[in-house]
Amino acid sequence: MDPQQLLLLAVPAAFIAFGLGWLAARVDIKHLIEGSKALPRSYFRGLNFLLTEQPDRAIDSFIEAVQGDPDTIELHFTLGAMFRRRGETERAIRIHQSLLDRADLAQADRDRALLELGRDFLKAGMFDRAENAFETLRGSTVEAEALGDLLDIFEIEKEWVKAIDCARELEARSGAEMTRRIAHYHCELAQFALLQSRFDEAGREISAAFAALRQSVRAGLLAGELALAAGHVEAAIEAWAALGRQSPQHLALVADKLMAAYKQTGRADEGLRLLEGSLAQTPSYDVLLVVARETHATAGPDAAFALLLRELRRSPTLIGLEQLVQARFAQMPADLAAELDIVRTLLHQQTRRLSRYVCARCGFKARQHHWHCPGCRNWDSYAPRRAEELEISS
Ligand SMILES: [Zn+2]
Repeated sequence: MDPQQLLLLAVPAAFIAFGLGWLAARVDIKHLIEGSKALPRSYFRGLNFLLTEQPDRAIDSFIEAVQGDPDTIELHFTLGAMFRRRGETERAIRIHQSLLDRADLAQADRDRALLELGRDFLKAGMFDRAENAFETLRGSTVEAEALGDLLDIFEIEKEWVKAIDCARELEARSGAEMTRRIAHYHCELAQFALLQSRFDEAGREISAAFAALRQSVRAGLLAGELALAAGHVEAAIEAWAALGRQSPQHLALVADKLMAAYKQTGRADEGLRLLEGSLAQTPSYDVLLVVARETHATAGPDAAFALLLRELRRSPTLIGLEQLVQARFAQMPADLAAELDIVRTLLHQQTRRLSRYVCARCGFKARQHHWHCPGCRNWDSYAPRRAEELEISS
């Protein structure tokens, strides 16, 4: 086909496309105009306030629109969500409550309104009323959402037994993968029992955590803690060494305790070799600290300094440099030590920030490692590594 023939075909095709678009636009505009006639004027005033960034006046206009036209159910939901997002929970509650008071509301809308009301209560910190709302929604059209919100309440209130039941129910109803969370709930119970020296109960919860999630790192850590607390040092070593093989990174969280356990059984050399082996494969600030301290104790300050220097070359971090300076500090003559102290102080100011743990989801920084982020309440969002180590590896 030559270019002229192509042009002859293309021109009518363009006209047809233009015509169809024009028709579609006319239909849409007509539909829009018909729809807009049904909407109260205050609705448009509200929109105008939103466009001119006057949200408070917009909200007042929308309230007026809702009062003027009781059929605007979607507008009720939009308004309620807007109030809640702005933290104006009292207004959101009033909006959703007014929906529920209407006798003509379809069941699906009634369920949705109660779910939203429950969320308003949750946001306002009225957990009992929120829980009641979500419990009422069992068997409803929004059951899965209500169970998810209920689970949030149990987590906030640290009601781990209820959380386990709720998570299992949610798993059955929606097919959501809950095994990781359930393992954590059992670990929370185990940790609490351990604190209270209820070792049998702690053991049962750890087993339940493993039953929920066979590879649970946290349950492995707790198994070592329990064994140590019950006086079974060898079993603690075994549990933590197994954990190190399964997840070398997490050894950082127990390196100190593992070394202490080895020393308690008179096998400090073996413990040091295990940690050195782990360090060679997986650089870790926490493991390095323990290895350097042990090397200092057994082979002297020069050996510890050489180790720190070697690791610093391999993985150059400020927190590592601080340890190196610290290691030299004790051996310095008084005049040099005074100068080095300035460097040490400056370094420490930086490393305080860099040695924190960071949530990968929300960026919340914490001095201690968390399994459950206090900021965004996600599980397993903290790597067992310090902020600077993460910055370097990324
Ligand atoms: Zn977070």
